[in-house]
Amino acid sequence: MTTALRHDWTREEIRAIHDMPLLDLVFRAAAVHREQPDPSEVQVCKLISIKTGACPEDCSYCSQSSRYQTGIERQELMDKCAVIDIAKRAKESGVSRVCMGAAWRSAKDNDQFDKVLEMVREVTDMGVEVCCTLGMLNESQAKRLEEAGLYAYNHNLDTSASHYKSVITTRTYEDRLNTLENVRKTSVTLCTGGILGLGETINDRVDLLHTLSHMEPHPESVPVNILSKVPGTPMAEAPDVPFTEALRMIATARILMPRSMVRLSAGRAKLSVSEQAFCFLAGANSIFSSETKSMLTSAVPSPDYDEDKAMLELLGLSMRPPFKGDKHPLGCKGAKEGGCDDHEHHEHSHAPEIACAK
Ligand code: SAM
Ligand code: SF4
Repeated sequence: MTTALRHDWTREEIRAIHDMPLLDLVFRAAAVHREQPDPSEVQVCKLISIKTGACPEDCSYCSQSSRYQTGIERQELMDKCAVIDIAKRAKESGVSRVCMGAAWRSAKDNDQFDKVLEMVREVTDMGVEVCCTLGMLNESQAKRLEEAGLYAYNHNLDTSASHYKSVITTRTYEDRLNTLENVRKTSVTLCTGGILGLGETINDRVDLLHTLSHMEPHPESVPVNILSKVPGTPMAEAPDVPFTEALRMIATARILMPRSMVRLSAGRAKLSVSEQAFCFLAGANSIFSSETKSMLTSAVPSPDYDEDKAMLELLGLSMRPPFKGDKHPLGCKGAKEGGCDDHEHHEHSHAPEIACAK
């Protein structure tokens, strides 16, 4: 029997799941996870910081905010060829999703955005899923990214609506939700999740999961970040997040959103292989990996490709190929060229062949 998708979880139900005895919770989440077509597959993603630092926003955890002295060097928009080189090496290492991040408050209709569109086109043409995280988007920008072939857009809600203003004052939760809605008006998939360790209560975590699980459809990717404490930011001295709390968040997300990819994101470098194994058992099925051992900046460390390959092999897990089972922007193009104009088809067994032919 397959668990039915629900979008009406109450806060009380979510809290009751979250607070279950830990091993009962992991067991329940694992059972839900085993309903995935291939529960032993893990999506491996590579983040590229295409524009680093000097961000006008005041996100109190971030190494790239211009408000804090974090020692992160500012870098203008990267050259397209440099991005493609990194993406090529990532693909050769088995990465199936390349995520390009820019430290912007919002995308602007200018030559920089045009350059990003060009990067999206070319990296998509390499046959990997492309995700962008560029700050706030309006409808037309989301549409242009869709037309360039963008597969996913990341825009994290980070925490609950009520705790948000204690973390960020330069934009609102509503702003964040608007961008997510603008992306949802396209075929680009949604990647949105949160960060643990921002001084939030368990009820704030429940509220975040409530917001995510009420989205219809559920976000295709749900990153669970554990705060990487960045010296110079207001969160530099925040208390550590106990591992079991991260495990509870992952397991609860898996139960509430059975078909979404749940990504064990920032903070993974501090976890042992055994702790990560628990996360995979509880339904995490996506990670970031990096040849430079850092996520967007060196302030947020990451394991590298070789370490991750060895870990996945040890645990009997495999790397998920790109464009598997979800919407595929190139699939629309390719399918039309192939004479298929049935949109439902794109949810999508024939997408991998289209991608691999590229
Ligand atoms: N400017 C864009 C935005 O905010 O959407 C994209 C870049 S931002 C660095 C990408 C995400 O990384 C943030 O939304 C946040 O959830 C996560 N992140 C950034 N710094 C982090 C840290 N120190 N620890 C954990 N997660 C972090
Ligand atoms: Fe800027 Fe994004 Fe960092 Fe916030 S999280 S300061 S918006 S780069």
